[in-house]
Amino acid sequence: MLDCAIIGGGPAGLTAGLYATRGGLRNVTLFEMGMPGGQITGSSEIENYPGFFDHTKTGMDFMNGWQEQCFAFGLKHKMKKVERVVKRDNHFIIIVEGGETYKALTVITCTGSTPKRAGFKGENEFFGRGISTCATCDGFFYKNKPVTVLGGGDTALEEALYLSNICSDVYVVHRRETFRTAPPTLERVKKKDNIHIITNSVIEEAYGGAMGLDGVKIRNIKTDEVVDMPNTGLFVFVGHNVNNSVLKDKNGEFICEVNNWGQVVVDLSMRTNLSGLFVAGDIRIQAPKQVVSSAGDGAVAGLQAISYIQELS
Ligand code: FAD
Ligand code: NAP
Repeated sequence: MLDCAIIGGGPAGLTAGLYATRGGLRNVTLFEMGMPGGQITGSSEIENYPGFFDHTKTGMDFMNGWQEQCFAFGLKHKMKKVERVVKRDNHFIIIVEGGETYKALTVITCTGSTPKRAGFKGENEFFGRGISTCATCDGFFYKNKPVTVLGGGDTALEEALYLSNICSDVYVVHRRETFRTAPPTLERVKKKDNIHIITNSVIEEAYGGAMGLDGVKIRNIKTDEVVDMPNTGLFVFVGHNVNNSVLKDKNGEFICEVNNWGQVVVDLSMRTNLSGLFVAGDIRIQAPKQVVSSAGDGAVAGLQAISYIQELS
């Protein structure tokens, strides 16, 4: 029986493992389907993690030291994709790809979330090289420069407001006339002089070269007119997929409470409403979707798993 099974080896899962093992749990296993590190390993740089300020280092470089440190206190790693978590009496069963099972007294799920792609030409080619899905992460790279935002939901317009305080101009491109975002947010956007709304339009193409994105072409879907927007960064906010499938039972029902968007409901201790099950990082409600906050969540969850086991004995 494991003391704790951690699912997902991004910043949240690794930190949960560090705190759980260093805090005294002896039998802790991290299930990660690939190499640990998480989403940030796909980023060309990170400059908003306190204490790490080196523009020559990539997200992969940044995470390298985490693995060594987190495994130094006895955390074990199984490179396995978890299919499902099942609660049985006072313990959990972790079912991995291929059907193998593990038992654990506590589970910390840290499987993250994945920003959706919009599907236009050049999106994959320039993703991370001028196209971003994170204004907090990359907005500063466009200080006093123009940027384009794609999407008409709450995320797109809230991030457009955030970017409008940093960038010279923000062009919000939305495929319909009306917006999905909450009306007060739209009103705030409309009051900003440097936010320009372009409706009934989509990104036709992102173009550039070896150095990254140079600009985008915006097509009005009613008139078919194409406008060139050179020298712009592009932020795509067309929704997120929360990686919550491990928390569904075989009938597709969640084993713990989630909100309408599939984010797992937790309290300030990262506890779900299912006793012994914790989540941390991008998967939870109101996640800021940052490395620093995911690591913080992981620390909280690791400590709470220790307390939970102490209360059992
Ligand atoms: P993730 O990092 O998403 O890790 C989840 C892990 O779970 C993954 O490794 C995945 O393989 C694993 N997993 C998923 N499902 C399973 C399963 N069924 N079984 C086993 N393993 C599974 N944040 C910043 O603070 N600053 C930045 O500059 C920044 N830049 C970014 C740039 C890019 C391109 C991207 C994509 C994100 C960026 N972020 C940045 C956001 C940051 O990376 C995330 O907020 C953070 O990684 C979330 O951590 P997490 O541990 O919750 O999840
Ligand atoms: P969302 O509500 O699903 O909005 C996605 C937006 O992207 C929509 O405007 C959609 O257009 C557009 N879109 C989707 N696919 C596209 C494509 N391929 N090409 C171009 N545009 C595309 O996603 P979200 O904004 O990330 O929000 C997710 C959930 O979290 C929402 O329910 C939201 O209310 C909630 N949220 C709440 C807050 C808050 O309360 N403060 C903040 C952020 C998010 P259409 O409108 O035409 O479908």
